[in-house]
Amino acid sequence: MHVENYFDNWKREFDAAGYTSDVARSEFDEWVAGLDGELNNDYTQNPLSVSAAAENAIWLLQQDEWAQISYADENCPKCGRQRLEKCANGKHWCEKCNWVVEDGKFFRPGWRN
Ligand SMILES: [Zn+2]
Repeated sequence: MHVENYFDNWKREFDAAGYTSDVARSEFDEWVAGLDGELNNDYTQNPLSVSAAAENAIWLLQQDEWAQISYADENCPKCGRQRLEKCANGKHWCEKCNWVVEDGKFFRPGWRN
């Protein structure tokens, strides 16, 4: 059977990371297209391997989205330090306390750890 059977496992990771199902679907299709035909079945894939592949895809997405473009001039509204980074996704992220100004919540991209 086709690896498609594990799409729910894939989507669960993307849901948890706050991505829409459209993003999950296009990233999944891209991943499947890159698999060798023999890896494209559920004898070589399992829920864990698909979840791990999804985590890796998310890590790469976040690396693009949260790349630092520059430092912002203003101070972090949460911790007061002047360490706000302007990121590729247009958001301001504090590298000290992980506050995301536009989202109003703490977040740390996986690749920053
Ligand atoms: Zn801060």
